[in-house]
Amino acid sequence: MRAKAFWLILVALGLGTKRHWHILVAILLGVILGINLPYPTLAAEPDRFFFIHQFFNIVGQLFIRLITMIVVPLVVSSLIVGVSSLGDSRQLGRMGAKVLTYFLLFMGVSALLGAGLALWLQPGMQLQQNLFSQADTASIIQQLQQSPHQDLQALFFNMIPRNPIESLANADLVPVIIFTLLFGAAVASIGDAGKPVIHFFEALFTATMKLTDWVMIFAVPGVFSLAFTTVAKSGIGVFNELWLYVATVLIGLLFQIIIIFPLALKTLAKINFMNLYRAISEAIMVAFGTASSSATLPITIACMERRAGVSNRIASFVLPTGATINKTATTMFEVIAVLFLLQAYHIPIDAYNVGMIILFSIIASIGAAGVPSAGLITIAIVLNSIGKFQMDYLAGGMALLWSIDRVLDMCRTVVNVMSSCTVAALVASSEGELNRDVLNNHDAWTEVV
Ligand code: ASP
Repeated sequence: MRAKAFWLILVALGLGTKRHWHILVAILLGVILGINLPYPTLAAEPDRFFFIHQFFNIVGQLFIRLITMIVVPLVVSSLIVGVSSLGDSRQLGRMGAKVLTYFLLFMGVSALLGAGLALWLQPGMQLQQNLFSQADTASIIQQLQQSPHQDLQALFFNMIPRNPIESLANADLVPVIIFTLLFGAAVASIGDAGKPVIHFFEALFTATMKLTDWVMIFAVPGVFSLAFTTVAKSGIGVFNELWLYVATVLIGLLFQIIIIFPLALKTLAKINFMNLYRAISEAIMVAFGTASSSATLPITIACMERRAGVSNRIASFVLPTGATINKTATTMFEVIAVLFLLQAYHIPIDAYNVGMIILFSIIASIGAAGVPSAGLITIAIVLNSIGKFQMDYLAGGMALLWSIDRVLDMCRTVVNVMSSCTVAALVASSEGELNRDVLNNHDAWTEVV
């Protein structure tokens, strides 16, 4: 009886006219199917559902490819349009400083929150040492060693592109953003001579947004397939061992969504957070499905401009930088994950170590790309910073974290996107560029996807 009611609700939601309901239903159905049709374990018989798994794997990957292909032209064109519309370099400096202050503030608060939660709940103490021997240590060490973000000095150097075309081709978004910001400022500073360049990028931006609309036609099957393959691959058994760690991360993420962002929106800009969250609902679901804030960027921009009432000038400046720099969820996650490892291995730490972990988690999350698992890869930077041990020593624990990361990654990507949207709304409000009539009038919203 209950199952019947559940299906009825799902169907009703699925038939609702709004596209974001369709996406939500697609995610739920994907998760349910994934639990019921898991990938075979080694002990199991040959995969009876091979074709189903393969098919949805392909559909999901195609969707990710389609949205990822939009990201580089979108970041470049929106930033150049945004920066050049800011006018002179003083305006740009003022706005840049404001946005960066918000980003750092949010990341600082979430790092402190992560430290508080991990020290209080002690998720690492739950584990038995012998769990680590089961882990696939060698491949983890290899992955970490291949990580381009291992060393802090290289991280900083890599922010400045040696050749912007190379960074564009590799979709290395931090150097692309640095170059584009400077280039946009230079174009704005040459007056009329720069107009054709600006017109070109305006047209590029509009065309890229159009392309986003087309690609989002595939959002429902795409997100369904991604949810299905993720759950079918990782299963849900692993949650048994690590439930306290998972709970710690999820509590921290929820705290940001229901306390920190709403409080900031209310006190600094008198914005009702539910209106903003409703406006960006498609972006939230796509972030969850793709685990990539960069890939979600086109939809984030569309939601913020068309529904949240944020001006194009602010959205096109804050959101691309936010998707690359502002990763509040990742910062908090890195603090929790590192403290978890230290607790699990019974490595004693003092207040100074905790301070370093907080500081380096902020730096590492800024350096983390907006792609799946970036937050876990850049943990190496945080671990190295406290330098108490060899990486190899922690590899077993890292393997455990990898085994469960995809689902947490989906959740933190949602919060990363929400955080950048919150900053964009705050900045727009303080600049008098938030159209509250649009934000508060849901009935007049157009479909974003
Ligand atoms: N996947 C996250 C994002 O794209 C980054 C992370 O791994 O924390 O925002």
